[in-house]
Amino acid sequence: MSQTDLAEVPTALPPAAATDLLDRGYNRRDLARIATMFGIGALAATSGRPAWAAAGVPDPAPAAKTRIGANECWTGPLAPGQAAAHKAVAISNRYSPHDERGDFIRTVSAIEGVPADHVAPWPGSSDPLSRSVISFCSPGKGLVTADPTFELAGRTAEWLGVSVTRAPLTADYRHDVKAMLAADPNAGLYYVCTPNNPTGTITPLEDIAWLVKNKPDGAKVLVDEAYIHFAGVPSAVPIMLGNKDVIVLRTFSKIFGMAGMRMGFVMTAPENIAKMMRYDGGMQSGALPMPSLACATASLTAKTLIAKRKAEMEAAREFAIARVKAKGLKVVPTQANMFMIDWQTKPAKAMQEAFRTQSVEIGRSWPIWPTVSRVTVGSMADMKLFALALEKVWAG
Ligand code: PLP
Repeated sequence: MSQTDLAEVPTALPPAAATDLLDRGYNRRDLARIATMFGIGALAATSGRPAWAAAGVPDPAPAAKTRIGANECWTGPLAPGQAAAHKAVAISNRYSPHDERGDFIRTVSAIEGVPADHVAPWPGSSDPLSRSVISFCSPGKGLVTADPTFELAGRTAEWLGVSVTRAPLTADYRHDVKAMLAADPNAGLYYVCTPNNPTGTITPLEDIAWLVKNKPDGAKVLVDEAYIHFAGVPSAVPIMLGNKDVIVLRTFSKIFGMAGMRMGFVMTAPENIAKMMRYDGGMQSGALPMPSLACATASLTAKTLIAKRKAEMEAAREFAIARVKAKGLKVVPTQANMFMIDWQTKPAKAMQEAFRTQSVEIGRSWPIWPTVSRVTVGSMADMKLFALALEKVWAG
């Protein structure tokens, strides 16, 4: 590609990123779309957001009193995180009062046992998730996901005209890694969400290791661990450390109660981080709000409080699931802060409407399972209100 060709490209992307995208088979219209994705992060929070963003940013607050629909935490950041954020607000006249970004990276590095150059913070994990699709898929290298799973990667790919193949979960709700590979043996990216949203189920590390070993050369395996602290299962980080084609994604939007503060991070080989950053010169990762960085750093080390929050969630989940099962309904066995109810005879959309009449906002359903709703585990008080509403809406 010559400089003259590039001059005609309708994009604000840096020339090297534009050249790479064109070389990988994207066209000029795709480039404009990709530039839009990186330029409208703030707009994505409005109701007029494009389809690719719809799964990553929750809808405006529902009117319901009990909000157990969006997999948010029922309470705010951990106390040490809140204290650190308050302190950071007071000195936010400085762009970086004392290397808060570095502090965050060093803390992640120590806790997760990864070299500091393998860590990059981001404002939430939605951006790096979409960015992974752009960076490692192309018109000739598709995306493979499970079904059902978190939709953002698939929606980003569809928005860009990248092929998406979805492989149903196994009968015991793991990602069917063999079926995923068979579905598209030449994909650019295999997305593994564990614990999976919406099922809350785990894909064992052996399955992930198998996929990493058998995937095509150069393809990436993206392991989304948004809910890992709720499950307390081992991370895919050791697999990532042994293979440069693995990316691990985390967010502070779940157990850390920081969805509105926008913090997340990726762990992967530095060359992948560089590839993911080239569309905006590292702007999103480099310019994070100080209070969010400080809150995240202080929260990561609060081990006892994390364990306490997990136990609180488990008690509320056990209570709610017992009430659902008492109605003779089936629940997918979950290890995260969500569970799925199969209403069997009723569409999930109708049940969501029925719960709304009781001022309880439960979660959505997935096309592959139209009679199954996702319910987020809230506080024990939330789940008691959920159980009361259930009594009213489920007569069967
Ligand atoms: N990954 C999974 C599995 C999620 O469920 C979500 C949000 O619900 C995200 C990523 C993105 O969240 P955020 O952008 O708030 O980090």
